[in-house]
Amino acid sequence: VAGWQDDARSTAIAADDRDPLAAVRDRFRLPDGLVYLDGNSLGALQPAIAQRVATTMTDEWGEGLIRSWNDAGWVELPGRIAARIAPLIGAATDEVAVTDSTSTNLFKVLAAGAALRPDRRVILTDDTNFPTDIYVARGLAGLTDRHEVRVVPPEDLHDHLDDEVAMLMLTEVDYRSGRRHDAPALTAAAHGVGALAVWDLAHSVGVLDVDLTAWGADLAVGCSYKFLSGGPGAPAFAFAARRHHAALVNPLAGWFGHEQPFAFDLDYRPAPGATRLLNGTAPVLSMTALEAALEAFDGLEPAAVTAKAHALTTRFIDLVDTHLDGRIEVVTPREPARRGSQVSLRHEQAYAVTRALTDRGVIGDHRPPDIVRFGFAPLYVRHLDVVEAVIRLADLLDTGAWDQPRFHERQTVT
Ligand SMILES: *Cc1c(COP(=O)(O)O)cnc(C)c1O
Repeated sequence: VAGWQDDARSTAIAADDRDPLAAVRDRFRLPDGLVYLDGNSLGALQPAIAQRVATTMTDEWGEGLIRSWNDAGWVELPGRIAARIAPLIGAATDEVAVTDSTSTNLFKVLAAGAALRPDRRVILTDDTNFPTDIYVARGLAGLTDRHEVRVVPPEDLHDHLDDEVAMLMLTEVDYRSGRRHDAPALTAAAHGVGALAVWDLAHSVGVLDVDLTAWGADLAVGCSYKFLSGGPGAPAFAFAARRHHAALVNPLAGWFGHEQPFAFDLDYRPAPGATRLLNGTAPVLSMTALEAALEAFDGLEPAAVTAKAHALTTRFIDLVDTHLDGRIEVVTPREPARRGSQVSLRHEQAYAVTRALTDRGVIGDHRPPDIVRFGFAPLYVRHLDVVEAVIRLADLLDTGAWDQPRFHERQTVT
């Protein structure tokens, strides 16, 4: 029987034929028949990365051994990757350090920000922020015994911006709802009371047209295993605006953030710019994978990536509104500029629905209490994938096939 499904499929195929990013998809390998809508949690693999890492292991590590720090350019890896990430976030290379995890980098930039605003005691954030950000801020506050982490609803942020606030610390795209903050306006509001603006770009980088320089952002962090597809646990990054470099302090000072690590000087002299945010030895295998992954962004216009993100999420929302109305609810903002490349649906039994969908070859994920979450990585998700996901979800909800005991059993990672 011909139905909305066939119409939706042919419209999507036509959109895929016109997609200016279609060729980039060929760099990625996804299992046959799988609809992968979780690139916001773990980006997909490009086979070229596996090749590159294999060569690094056999030739550079196996044969070159310690010589490879110089001969294979391992020592320059963080700087080379910073140069690739900088244009994706509207930064200069010397404002970016590629290192550690997002959580660790957040600790470092918050401590640096606290030192830049020594007379102020409040770190202001909102209650939609990602838990690790709040844990890290509270951990820092516990150490200084001087700071208070104030967590308020997002709509109340402006009311709490006053001359006690040292830093406004926010995540641009809400991991749960997909809502995108108005980063330029919030940065300006923070500056209006003399506070710094600290942004977490975990769900923005590689998919939204982020411009830290245009926003006037002070400090930022971001993740490279999500939309940058750098591989599980790939090194993260930290950003510090150039105007803060002279006074920028890394609380985890280490030899790779030293001006001359191999001078073995007992006195710490920070490296220029954001490089001082480095700490210890770089994880060369993970860095190699990340560097190779970023080649997918070569020559791509950030605006084209964002445009496809909007097109994919709009298609998904429209199909859900039209065909699943009343059975599941879209909680992500409908205005494209107000959301990331993510759509979240609310369902009472969201966990079981997510597991049942995975069983049908559509991978999204679950966030408590009641969210089924889908991320749309524009570099490899097709319009047809969007349609297949909605078709399979519609069938599950129509038949009730999601409601089986095996789909209710909790796994560790959701
Ligand atoms: C994914 C994510 C992180 C991840 O932090 P890690 O230290 O890499 O585990 C941090 N912040 C936000 C907002 C995230 O979405």
